[in-house]
Amino acid sequence: MQPTLADIYAAAKTIRGVADGTPLVPSPYMTDRAGAEFLLKLENMQPIGAFKLRGACNAVANVQEARGVTCCSTGNHGRGVAFAAAQRGMRAVICMSELVPQAKVDGIRALGAEVHIKGRSQDDAQAEAGRLVEEEGLFEISPFDDPLVIAGQGTIGLEILEARPDVTTFLVPLSGGGLAAGVARAAKSINPAIRVVGISMDRGAAMHDSIKAGTPIEVEEVPSLADSLGGGIGLNNRLSFPMCRDLLDQVVLVSEDEIYHAMQVLYYEDRIVAEGACVVGLAAVLAGRITLDGPTATIVTGRNLDMNVFTRIVTGQDVQLGDITVKGRPYAA
Ligand SMILES: *Cc1c(COP(=O)(O)O)cnc(C)c1O
Repeated sequence: MQPTLADIYAAAKTIRGVADGTPLVPSPYMTDRAGAEFLLKLENMQPIGAFKLRGACNAVANVQEARGVTCCSTGNHGRGVAFAAAQRGMRAVICMSELVPQAKVDGIRALGAEVHIKGRSQDDAQAEAGRLVEEEGLFEISPFDDPLVIAGQGTIGLEILEARPDVTTFLVPLSGGGLAAGVARAAKSINPAIRVVGISMDRGAAMHDSIKAGTPIEVEEVPSLADSLGGGIGLNNRLSFPMCRDLLDQVVLVSEDEIYHAMQVLYYEDRIVAEGACVVGLAAVLAGRITLDGPTATIVTGRNLDMNVFTRIVTGQDVQLGDITVKGRPYAA
């Protein structure tokens, strides 16, 4: 069942004091460039450095009679589930393949979770999560296709509108669509006139391509500066696909060059260290792909990035992404 506004209010209560209350701050530079007031919701300030703690907290709090929780995300969802479970004294097992860098394994362990390393692909890690559900009674938490996760992410929409009921446009980074589905459900339930725009990178944008195809489809996964936006939406997607299809006014795509520049903007103009995934809203506005008609909020979704790559970007050096090179250039406003 798709989460309702009431479910999102319930989630807000559940996550209070743990994963809520991040700052909403103006960006003077972006306001000037956009010709409309431009606000940043700083989810990079969450305890795990990303908004995924909201959905994970809400899902873990509602798990009943399981002997623990599991998931196979190596990124921010894995961190969120690890933190939320530790907070409740619940066992968490995060499943990963052998190819995952040791730093990520250590990061998850430091948050108090067990790590199971299986095989050489995401599919092998997924099979291990499935085994833990079958044989050990653990409960699996999807990163985006779960009503409690979507409701948890939707609390960001509530907080923004509580602070600024006059916001007319939300620019939401879009991957599996849990964030966009939750924020759009919250915003449009409160005020149907609010425009919600999903934004992805222009290579491997699974939700964009699936909406266009009318059904969930697989996309080739390619490296991106917005690595948190990669990956599929699941061919059996039940919730985030129909919600994004029906609730988003538009999905906009941005290039790696545009993401590179927007990361420099957020750093030099707003002094924020954030992942490539966070700046796609800024990138879309700066590249003239969206025009704004009133106060606009975007979500700075996380800060868990490779600092070597970040240093290269803010010093204007080339970045190699698989077989493509993002050409470096020094920052100029
Ligand atoms: C997961 C994630 C997103 C995208 O969220 P979805 O719910 O998968 O669309 C964006 N930014 C960051 C940093 C993330 O970790």
